[in-house]
Amino acid sequence: GALPIIDILKEEIKRQGLEETVSVVGTGCQGFCEKGPTLVIEPQHILYTRVTKEDVEEIVSQELIKGERVERLLLIDQTTQKPVSLMSDINFFSKQHRIVLHNCGVIDPQKITDYTERDGYKGIQKALKEMSPEEVMEEVKKSGLRGRGGAGFPTGLKWGFCRQTPSDKKYIICNADEGDPGAFMDRSVLEGDPHSVIEGMLIGAYAIGADEGYVYCRAEYPLAIKHLEIAIKQAEEAGYLGDNILGSSFNFRLNVFAGAGAFVCGEETALMASIEGKRGMPRVRPPFPAVSGLWGKPTNINNVETWSNIPHILRNGAEWYTQFGTEKSKGTKIFALTGKVNNTGLVEVPMGTTLREIIFDIGDGIQGGKKFKAVQIGGPSGGCLPEDMLDLAVDYDTLTQAGAMVGSGGLVIMDETTCMVDIARYFLNFSKKESCGKCTPCREGTTRMYEILDRITKGEGKEEDLDTLENLAYTIKETSLCGLGQFAPSPILATLKYFRHEYEAHIHDHK
Ligand code: SF4
Repeated sequence: GALPIIDILKEEIKRQGLEETVSVVGTGCQGFCEKGPTLVIEPQHILYTRVTKEDVEEIVSQELIKGERVERLLLIDQTTQKPVSLMSDINFFSKQHRIVLHNCGVIDPQKITDYTERDGYKGIQKALKEMSPEEVMEEVKKSGLRGRGGAGFPTGLKWGFCRQTPSDKKYIICNADEGDPGAFMDRSVLEGDPHSVIEGMLIGAYAIGADEGYVYCRAEYPLAIKHLEIAIKQAEEAGYLGDNILGSSFNFRLNVFAGAGAFVCGEETALMASIEGKRGMPRVRPPFPAVSGLWGKPTNINNVETWSNIPHILRNGAEWYTQFGTEKSKGTKIFALTGKVNNTGLVEVPMGTTLREIIFDIGDGIQGGKKFKAVQIGGPSGGCLPEDMLDLAVDYDTLTQAGAMVGSGGLVIMDETTCMVDIARYFLNFSKKESCGKCTPCREGTTRMYEILDRITKGEGKEEDLDTLENLAYTIKETSLCGLGQFAPSPILATLKYFRHEYEAHIHDHK
């Protein structure tokens, strides 16, 4: 609903004779999705939530928009019935630490000057003027950055594998095939700050020795693709992409490839097959992409959030970056908060923040005053965690030990009315539908598991079903070819571990 309001706002500013002093900037997502459309008055950081067309005249009439001191705020938050206030007074913003989302909701993503005014492209300038590719690689290694796409593999180490492979041609790829239900971090970064991804890739290409890159973005994200294409064109015109970048001998070209929406194309080898024009199916590794990737050439793949961290690390140094996060998981992580939480939206917090802080302080607790029951972390490959794990610090290793995973960062919150067997069935159904069918354990196994779960939720479960489910789950995990199959049973295993009584109730009470 924001776009029509922008037009009305511009008209009203003109009508009140303020067009010389006040400008309207259309930005990307501010993250406060629950309260949209939002409007922020800068430089005071005054936030208006759920703005309607009818509010516009009143907002423009206030002193605050003319840059004067705020004495009165006339708008009332429709949920809390409190006056709308400073962004810094709102837990949703004040408890976050934004590195990757630093520009989202602040700059106009369609203007390269908005990006450069906030130190954009300073990272690549520093790399090209002051550092060798090896030094850039070392800096990223020292930062402790781990891949934000799910597996959490150390980024600098991954780059090193590709750099070490001798070849006349190397590629780098940005994986923007975000497909988890409830996840929209990558979309928001591409829509709201596309230049940060381009700059991250430039720095990576320089360190690795690649001269061409692809952003593989799902076609369901048309605005992300549009903003990216505009940003690439502007970067080319400004001399950040192309030959002899910033007067150096470094050349780099960037292409956008729209994927057709298959979840499995988020897997590296399937993604590359898709770019090559083949059916998007994973293949056996080795060879790993760093040795033989796109069109048989050494290739490095990172996701949107990982690339977007890189300019900040180069600009501010690895030491600065390591102050955020835990010993083994450095930096921040973006989470998409969805489900039965009051503040659905996009949040960025230091690694090691507890689930309780994310869900109750930033997310403002459960809708309708209901009781928290569980949180699904990591989408269909992750797991559900119960209430007694709310004080768990969110980092790669802690979550894996608990039977979940950071994954791409989707957090789906469930309240006391949610049936956990239904949830397991929902996520398994997703994996079953998205299975590419190449290997038997995943193709057949997920279907058989789904049949059992469906039977249980209909009150037709049998005593032996839970053992069969567990056996199937471990077999599929051990024997599937790619991550989709290997992690498809995770929601079932986690719910069986923490909510077994709900399965038993379905079976014994026949409902
Ligand atoms: Fe395809 Fe599933 Fe096998 Fe992966 S595990 S290759 S998605 S059938």
